Amino acid sequence: MTATDTRFARHLSMQRASAAEREAILANPGFGNYFTDHTTIIDFRVDASGVGGWHDARLEPYGPIALDPAAAVLHYGQEIFEGMKAYRHADGSIWTFRADANAARLNRSAVRLALPQLPEELFLESLSQLVAADQDWIPSGDGESLYLRPFMIATEAFLGVRPAREVSYRVIASPAGNYFGGEVKPVDIWVSRNYARAGRGGTGAAKAGGNYASSLAAQLEAEAHGCKQVLFLDQFNDNAVEELGGMNVFFVFRDGSIVTPALSGTILEGVTRSSVIQLGRDRGLQVSERKITLDEWRDGVAGGEITEVFACGTAAVITPIGQLRDGDEFIGMADAAAGEVTMSIRRQLLGIQTGTVEDTHGWLTRLV
Ligand SMILES: *Cc1c(COP(=O)(O)O)cnc(C)c1O
Repeated sequence: MTATDTRFARHLSMQRASAAEREAILANPGFGNYFTDHTTIIDFRVDASGVGGWHDARLEPYGPIALDPAAAVLHYGQEIFEGMKAYRHADGSIWTFRADANAARLNRSAVRLALPQLPEELFLESLSQLVAADQDWIPSGDGESLYLRPFMIATEAFLGVRPAREVSYRVIASPAGNYFGGEVKPVDIWVSRNYARAGRGGTGAAKAGGNYASSLAAQLEAEAHGCKQVLFLDQFNDNAVEELGGMNVFFVFRDGSIVTPALSGTILEGVTRSSVIQLGRDRGLQVSERKITLDEWRDGVAGGEITEVFACGTAAVITPIGQLRDGDEFIGMADAAAGEVTMSIRRQLLGIQTGTVEDTHGWLTRLV
């Protein structure tokens, strides 16, 4: 049967770690290092008559995936993913943030990578099934959470080039501390001149593993120059600022206005980005999505018009940007303190997510 079947089976595992081992991990989880006891899986198949459907939704013990060596994902990179978090509130309830936006984005990415769309109810159910089973893995420290990684891969064994007719969707979870570790310190950024992460008509607006693969050489270059992250520009469009490898960028101006690069097709539309735009407008600030060039950044910082620059994304929430390094040129100050607007928006966003600030936009969904 290939029509979508929404029933979920639960196959619970023995716990992979003892309570003591889990507590030791949760005391210092870092980011993306440890995984919980279970995974949710939903398979997709196109039948002989060409009808596709999701089937065999299930919760299973976490473990390796058996894949045919000819599976399309291994050869042609037909893969997409999402990134979101589950937060434990003071009363013990567990929530996720703007899951509907992640569901919609997963489906936009699916369309671009010629993968099947997943109904939003199944997406939400895949998260709550996993979080309910593995809720003991949610760290409870300040700003800590359970990172959720839904992803979809082409599993069909076939080396011809066409969209796979067999696909698997899964969710894994990983306890998350503070992304860059410790206190919120501004990060230094390297301007990528040799590499782009996306081009017009490409997959830059989709959350696809391939975009990350193509950003790694630039990331290495950044690290070789003592920078934590890399900034991508549109070098064919006046060096318009695009984004970091996995985070969107914001500029705070002296007059209080906020600017973020307009979505151009080569920028990933972050859920954090759209939340920051909304929170800025809630404060009565003028927030514009427009083209902003590297020249404007350089001149704005030099002339004092631009007072703060920050990056944002689910994993690191909001991170102040310190110095920008473009070859031998340095823009901004090393060791500058995190900006006031940056930190205030960060506190507000984290407060909403963790249940200490009122959620006036209905952004939270209860999972457990
Ligand atoms: C995931 C991602 C972001 C941030 O998106 P959020 O929804 O805010 O986590 C930004 N840029 C890229 C390239 C990404 O993959």
